[in-house]
Amino acid sequence: MEGKPIIAGNWKMHKTTNEGSAFAMSVQNILVDIKNVSVVFSPPFIGLFELEVESPFFKAAQNCHWEDHGAFTGEISTSMIKSCGAEFVIIGHSERRQYFGDSNKWINKKIKSVIAEELNPIFCIGETLDERESGKTEERLRNQIVKGLDGLKDLNKIVIAYEPVWAIGTGKTANNLQIREAHSYIKKVIKELYPSIQDIQVLYGGSVKPSNAGELICVPHVDGFLIGGASLDVDSFSSIVQIVEDIQENK
Ligand code: PEP
Repeated sequence: MEGKPIIAGNWKMHKTTNEGSAFAMSVQNILVDIKNVSVVFSPPFIGLFELEVESPFFKAAQNCHWEDHGAFTGEISTSMIKSCGAEFVIIGHSERRQYFGDSNKWINKKIKSVIAEELNPIFCIGETLDERESGKTEERLRNQIVKGLDGLKDLNKIVIAYEPVWAIGTGKTANNLQIREAHSYIKKVIKELYPSIQDIQVLYGGSVKPSNAGELICVPHVDGFLIGGASLDVDSFSSIVQIVEDIQENK
């Protein structure tokens, strides 16, 4: 998994357990020869246990609670996620921030609990359209990074996903320059906060599809994708993975 581009599909609230298992099997059957890319499926919680994957395919939860157990109706802890064989947990997705009140403080606690369980957080950050248009993109990204990682000494297992909120599920993709600038800024802030870190993987998310994946993966500092809509369809998702695999193979 180390260093390879990560292509993560976030299914959100889609697919029953059976549908998810059949989907993951079809994708793995199509992509039998993949070796240069790590592929992550993120089903709803109930699908996590049944989903069968074998490296370079992995499973992610879409959220977690920061406590290990207790009276938290409707929540799932990182040890429960780990017991399903998942390796990643998506934290701070903009839908969680927007609809479910995930604050920077909660996100920070969740990231710490994911790391304590030796899982990999996919830590989502990104600006709204208002913030971008008022020139506050960098301020927003820095604030989310500083607060989300507060108190963390080591970033070993963390993957960041840059997802401009205005590009999620809208069909609007950030342009290459916007993506390059944002990813390079994120890496600069991380280097400032953690001078000894070599590099951190930063995924891009926001209307990635087969028609733009080849171009986007070649943007400097883009180390993979977090994909919503196009990750729900076997052909679209498989072709995005294959496109990235082929580009890696020919490097
Ligand atoms: C997402 O939900 O993280 C996402 C990037 O969605 P989409 O690919 O549909 O824009």
